Amino acid sequence: MTTPSITNSDEATTQRDVAQKSSTEPLIFERSKRGRRGYQLPPLDVPEQSLDELLPASLRRDEIADEVEVSEVDVIRHFTRLSKLNVSIDAGLYPLGSCTMKHNPRINEEIARTPGFALSHPLQPEHQVQGNLELLWTIEQTLKEIFGMPRVTLQPVAGAHGELTGILMVHKALAKSGNARKYILIPDSAHGTNPASAAFAGYEIRELKSNSRGTVELSTLEAAVNEDVAALMVTVPNTLGVFESEIRAMADILHAKGAYLYCDGANLNSFVGIARPGDMGIDVIHSNLHKTFSTPHGGGGPGAGPVGVSAKLVDFVPTPTVERREDGTFYLDFNHPDSIGRMRAFHGNFNVLVRALTYMRSMGPTGMRRIAQLAVLNANYIRARLRNHYHLPYDAPTLHEVVFSDKLQTAHDVHTLDIAKRLMDYGFHPPTIYFPLIVSGALMIEPTESEPREELDAFCEAMIAIARESEERPELVRSAPHTTPVRRLDEARAARQPILRWKR
Ligand SMILES: *Cc1c(COP(=O)(O)O)cnc(C)c1O
Repeated sequence: MTTPSITNSDEATTQRDVAQKSSTEPLIFERSKRGRRGYQLPPLDVPEQSLDELLPASLRRDEIADEVEVSEVDVIRHFTRLSKLNVSIDAGLYPLGSCTMKHNPRINEEIARTPGFALSHPLQPEHQVQGNLELLWTIEQTLKEIFGMPRVTLQPVAGAHGELTGILMVHKALAKSGNARKYILIPDSAHGTNPASAAFAGYEIRELKSNSRGTVELSTLEAAVNEDVAALMVTVPNTLGVFESEIRAMADILHAKGAYLYCDGANLNSFVGIARPGDMGIDVIHSNLHKTFSTPHGGGGPGAGPVGVSAKLVDFVPTPTVERREDGTFYLDFNHPDSIGRMRAFHGNFNVLVRALTYMRSMGPTGMRRIAQLAVLNANYIRARLRNHYHLPYDAPTLHEVVFSDKLQTAHDVHTLDIAKRLMDYGFHPPTIYFPLIVSGALMIEPTESEPREELDAFCEAMIAIARESEERPELVRSAPHTTPVRRLDEARAARQPILRWKR
């Protein structure tokens, strides 16, 4: 094991290229010089008109606007400098737990750029877009197989949107049988979008306390389920990475009382191609395609949250669905009288669906299984290497992610936020912190399958070095980051009072 060179230095000796120097350079607005041009207009090829003819004086400025005047060189350098400040999966490990920040294969982009996909319009007549309809139909068939379920809607454009779609289907099914019920049960380890979606669909939330393994205790569930409960929303494996090994029994308890089992499928990467949610008794599940099926998802950018349903909910899926005729042609079917209706204008985030299907097809069933196996292996490698240096709050076996806490470091007054900030000095994006909420000072690490052994080792060595620094030089960790363009920001104020406009 090699020791990273930064251990004995407060200064910028990070192995990676953090574009530190450029933070002190003037902004593009400050580079403005009268008369600089970044473009040239072609010669006028229409009859010249006077300004008075074109725009009455009353609508015109008295003075020329105080615009930024810069050259092409200035602009290129400005944006290139900014691009170097971005941290991305293309630059290194991005272990943001629960987010599945895996490599996005470039073949996905190539296929998504195919003109027939990229330039088509959702209002084109069916006969012109048979290929696109076939793509939607094929991705539904593929997800049906992965889920082990009879129907999948592709309309939702995010995991949270899928949750809302799923709960609205449960609501409609229950309402149709005479009682829409009042409550959704949600374990205390759940992602915040679960209660938000259930509340948005009109339900009240009842929290289920996890047991000492971090999973749902059957007796707790049994005591909580009654004829007022519409569904349990559970994440499998849960946000600690622990598989709910009693999921089948949980389904039975719910079904016996006429309630539904909703699965938050954000963690599908840990069992895709190995186990099928439909076989677990799950009635409805969303998959974050942008997580498991490798489409870029930094900065909240376009996603897809298809929802699979069991036979009980098939009638309620959003319209239109894509169907295949006897003669092999495809059409949009609006004839679903019990449908919850549309969840989205048009057909979901089509370009994300193209990327996801490309990924599924390039992996194939065997490759898909391998994804899950390697994702679990990588997470457990990190777990094994770090467990003597960081506290493991739940000792149950974990799948594709591992949650540590700052319990050992708090003795030196070093906390999770400090550890995360210090990791940036070592050139790593920090893991998810302070989530799940049932772990005090959580550090939730998900390496994904796409990381090579060397990268995992470099990350573990940085984490071990930080654990040592926390004992020997805690102030160094508490005052991190030292090498980034900006230090610790007031995140709350940045969100509430963002400065979105440049003013001289
Ligand atoms: C990411 C995530 C969500 C929300 O998904 P979005 O696609 O961001 O809306 C919900 N639950 C869990 C466990 C997640 O990790």
